[in-house]
Amino acid sequence: MNMPEKNKPVIGVDLDGVCADFYGRMREIAAEWFERPVDSLSEDVSYGLEEWGISDTKQYESLHRFALNQRQLFKTMPMLPGARKYLRKLSDDGYHIRIVTHRLFIHYSHAAAVQQTVAWLDGHGIPYWDLCFMKEKSAVGADIYVEDNPHNVLQLREKGFATICFANSTNKEIPSPRASGWREVYDIIRAL
Ligand SMILES: [Mg+2]
Repeated sequence: MNMPEKNKPVIGVDLDGVCADFYGRMREIAAEWFERPVDSLSEDVSYGLEEWGISDTKQYESLHRFALNQRQLFKTMPMLPGARKYLRKLSDDGYHIRIVTHRLFIHYSHAAAVQQTVAWLDGHGIPYWDLCFMKEKSAVGADIYVEDNPHNVLQLREKGFATICFANSTNKEIPSPRASGWREVYDIIRAL
């Protein structure tokens, strides 16, 4: 592997909903948490999971704490198809991969969150140079962002950052550039 070069374009890559199937795994865990059949939980969820009966931040955090600490959420999510293949291609093509994730929002569970994340990234062979646990994603200064959180996409674009919206049910209203999968992310980045 070559040393990172200063002039390489930096891609800021989100994890949940972009590389990892956060909503798919969370649906299984939420079914356990609520003691409901998994089929009764809609796959067409919005940000905040209100379709599953989550009505406030406290409930969301309780579910998330259970998922992280009792079900190893960040270690057990399936990889979204193409994430490894196309991130490796982008890395080979000369892009600098910077993972940017807001996973430290449950207090006093940071060791678990970081350890599960690193194990997951290694276990799935995801290439990256930097791993940033950040709420304020624009602060990591990437040239191109790949993000699914609708609020983050809008905020990054407002600040002038090229941001590809990784399409899922939480961000249907967000305008293009949108990618419905990693192949499209790759094609959009190469065309920039
Ligand atoms: Mg995300």
